[in-house]
Amino acid sequence: MGALAERLFAVAACLAVAASSPLPKAICGYESCPVPKEGMTNVHLIAHSHDDVGWLKTVDQYYYGQNNSIKPVGVQYIIDSVVNELPKDPSRRFIYVETAYFRQWWNNRDQEAREKVEALVESGQLEIISGGWAMHDEAVTHYQSIIDQFTWGFKNLDDMFNTSCARPKIGWQIDPFGHARETASMMAMMGFDGLFFARLDHADKNNRFTNQGLEMVWKTSPDHGASSYLFTSANHDILYHSPIGFCFDILCDDEPIVDDLNSPDYNVDRRVNSFIEFIQKQSTYMKSNNILVTMGIDFAYQQASYWFNNLDRLIKYTNERQAEGGKINLLYSTPSCYLKAVHEAGLEWPSKEDDFFPYSSDEYSYWTGYFTSRPTLKFMERKGNNLLQVCKQLSVLADLREEKWEDLASLREAMGIMQHHDAITGTERQHVAEDYALRLHRSMEHCRQTAENALNKLAAKEGSTEVQFDSCLLTNVSQCDTSEQAEKFVVTLYNPLAQVTSMFVRLPVQDFEYQVRNELGVLIDTQMLKIPTPVLNMPGRQSSATQELLFQAENLPALGFKSYRVEKSNTASPPPQPSEELVIANDVIEVTFDADLKRLSSVKDIAADKTYAVSQDFQYYEAVEGDNLGAARRASGAYIFRPVNHQMFPVSDSPPTIETYTGALVNEIHQEWNDWVSLVTRIYKGTNHVELEWIVGPIPIDDDIGKEVISLVSLSGWETNGKFYTDSNGRQILERNRNLRPTWDFDPSLEPVAGNYYPITTAISIRNHAANSENEELAIITDRAQGGSSIENGTLEIMLHRRLLFDDDKGVAEPLNETAFGEGLVARGKQILLFGQTEAHPTSIYKTRRLVRDSMVLAPWLFITRTDLTPTQWGEQYNTFYTGLRREVPPNVNLLTLEPWNGEGMLVRVEHFLEKNDDPELSQPINVPLMGLIDRINEEMAIGETILGGNQWLSDNVRLEFKIEGEESTSQQLPRPDPNEDMANITLNPMQIRTFIVQTRSTATMTAPCSILLLALAILTIINI
Ligand SMILES: [Zn+2]
Repeated sequence: MGALAERLFAVAACLAVAASSPLPKAICGYESCPVPKEGMTNVHLIAHSHDDVGWLKTVDQYYYGQNNSIKPVGVQYIIDSVVNELPKDPSRRFIYVETAYFRQWWNNRDQEAREKVEALVESGQLEIISGGWAMHDEAVTHYQSIIDQFTWGFKNLDDMFNTSCARPKIGWQIDPFGHARETASMMAMMGFDGLFFARLDHADKNNRFTNQGLEMVWKTSPDHGASSYLFTSANHDILYHSPIGFCFDILCDDEPIVDDLNSPDYNVDRRVNSFIEFIQKQSTYMKSNNILVTMGIDFAYQQASYWFNNLDRLIKYTNERQAEGGKINLLYSTPSCYLKAVHEAGLEWPSKEDDFFPYSSDEYSYWTGYFTSRPTLKFMERKGNNLLQVCKQLSVLADLREEKWEDLASLREAMGIMQHHDAITGTERQHVAEDYALRLHRSMEHCRQTAENALNKLAAKEGSTEVQFDSCLLTNVSQCDTSEQAEKFVVTLYNPLAQVTSMFVRLPVQDFEYQVRNELGVLIDTQMLKIPTPVLNMPGRQSSATQELLFQAENLPALGFKSYRVEKSNTASPPPQPSEELVIANDVIEVTFDADLKRLSSVKDIAADKTYAVSQDFQYYEAVEGDNLGAARRASGAYIFRPVNHQMFPVSDSPPTIETYTGALVNEIHQEWNDWVSLVTRIYKGTNHVELEWIVGPIPIDDDIGKEVISLVSLSGWETNGKFYTDSNGRQILERNRNLRPTWDFDPSLEPVAGNYYPITTAISIRNHAANSENEELAIITDRAQGGSSIENGTLEIMLHRRLLFDDDKGVAEPLNETAFGEGLVARGKQILLFGQTEAHPTSIYKTRRLVRDSMVLAPWLFITRTDLTPTQWGEQYNTFYTGLRREVPPNVNLLTLEPWNGEGMLVRVEHFLEKNDDPELSQPINVPLMGLIDRINEEMAIGETILGGNQWLSDNVRLEFKIEGEESTSQQLPRPDPNEDMANITLNPMQIRTFIVQTRSTATMTAPCSILLLALAILTIINI
């Protein structure tokens, strides 16, 4: 926690131990800001470079400057150049955003260059903004991964600079395609003072121009109240580019400022006039007498002297006009300094409560296609998070620090890169998508090795030898070498949740019977399943398995594992035989299919004797094939969703084929609509929800029409009044209203479908508002981010896959036509249909929905070990059961983070995952044990609470507060930690996330605040007595 080194002196004093002198106090941040001039329009020029962490080129191609025929840029040269130019004038400033690139540069430069940068950071000339590993997308990213990517960015900044001057205070989301309330809420929890962005709905923006509403206080969480308020500034100009005509970059051809009076090209007067004219117009949109003007473009400042020399002149000659009464004052500034100036103006601001989705750049261009683009990459990213949490936890539980935990950096960084707004979004070029997948795959293998080391340590008994704990990463095409080939193997399931869970395990195997023993060596029930034909036919699948072995892993311990021993018998297992039964049921629910349509027709809650008339079908939209010459000719592309005539078509004119398979553990109905759309509908023993496993692809394009395929669920008799609900980054649930925007008049006539699509990170739902409907709700939980809507009352649609033949002219310049193994890409995924009742009812759907979501996001991870040992021998040599959790965690609490931190320390986050109105009982504040939660969090350790990013003690954070029009001011500070709080029983309020650094006392004396150290000492004193 390097940035806390400044606290060294104070901590040493309070402990009365000898310590070295405090570091000299750097003047950076707000203290270093230029002073605006009163009575003038102060123009804060923001020198910046927007450096995408992969897009048209791969991350490394951008960094090193390769593949320059695509774009002649190299990020390393940008940083070099800026670092050389800034010291030439102490008033010059620059901001840098993407820590992934900054770290790469730092690793590749010598001490001299690093010291130069340190000096610039400590003087405030170079300001780190946002500071995440990448500038994350906000629609399709999960909050756990957003927090992780910020945390890793901040940690690297601390490690590089060791000063609070490098601690970001501002969110700079200048390119992402719409903005999530949950992201803003997390930024408030990270102690940020403000958020700057550029992309919002064109009509919303026009509206805000007219009422000086581009800047506001965003109320980002009803649960967190005023501490979640975040000053938010939407750029008044075109995105984040410099004003037209003022791009002083080698990539632009704008006119430089020529101030030689003898030159025939002298142009100062004309250029200054033109700039002043721009400012005079734009400043009318702003409430304060400050205006922020971005001076940069994508990958700008490769030759920074070009920019700075011209900006020097622009500032000089514009400000000279002040002597003649000019009222415009230009200054080199940063977003922080702009924010400080705006704050000091002491004005009142409008507020905002909903979010900024969907984004439209004109009346035909709704950026709602990327919610689904590249569905398999989106799924792989989700699995990457699942494994990252597993191996971070296992590294802590096995105390692996000496062996392997540094390997975690690889997946942390690959996942950080994946959050970038041209990575998980699917808006990158094809070769870049492949590079992302390769990085993710390699780092997942590193992580698996780390987990293997941990598992060997935790499972070993006296005299055992180390074994392999492999992953079966191809189970999504029902392929796994070990389970298919081995006579004997062991399945170890690690549960990363803080609660006990169960799962059904499916493994592709040979056509024989298998015996499965649980952790106690007791034989358990199994069922052989037919692998659906569309899976067998998937391109690239290299497996001879035609059946899957299914068993239930019950009561998997929290933060722990159970091992199941599997043996192949010599008895052949004939292929399971289908029936034409149209009803499948377990003890809890019954699912019925229509005899004529051969489609889902109802789901019955047996205990409640309640039947939901629900149908499901696949449809597709035809993609507009525009040439993008004008808004009305926009094509549907990687970013934009634009269906022809807003009309959907069935994927097949005839009913699907249907085959029913029943057994002790699961009942399944297999359906095929055609050779590119199929579905398995299943209900597992004892579960109250329906699982839909879909396969879509290769989407045919032989008719030269791009297609966007949806799953459509309809409930007859439900009155949903145009309302539906989607999650925000997998956390808050937001109400959506068809054809309506809460804060401006929305015209749905031009794009009634695309304009009503919203991002689904994990869930979408509808409620029945009909009389006597008992607050029924249907939630669909997804296994990856997708786009969805409720276009007709009583329906939900989710876009699964899209294959397009035209580019939408939003930059990527490639049609989204994914292929693999020489054919159109095939995607396979799952959705969970969950019926329940809303908040007014005691059996609320909320808790179940969150649990189902968590069981998908943080599923037990399957490790598989080929062995010659008999089940008994295995049990003698290895532990088959382990739990790292020492205290029970309440059902509404998530252990969001448990990872190694600074040598022997740990970073821990606990989260209350219900909103205050979700559930009458479970939405109450709850107590959670932190001390003693796992063995290593014990009285030997000091515990300090930090802001969400783990880069500042919570007690040290102070946020700027902004007044809201017509409202009484209340404190916008983050809730302060209570120094007397019992760490064995900390309190969590609804939706609260609390972040702690747990360190050994020797480490803690370096960095922990006095209150924490004194608390630790007091505990030790009590123990000694
Ligand atoms: Zn970008």
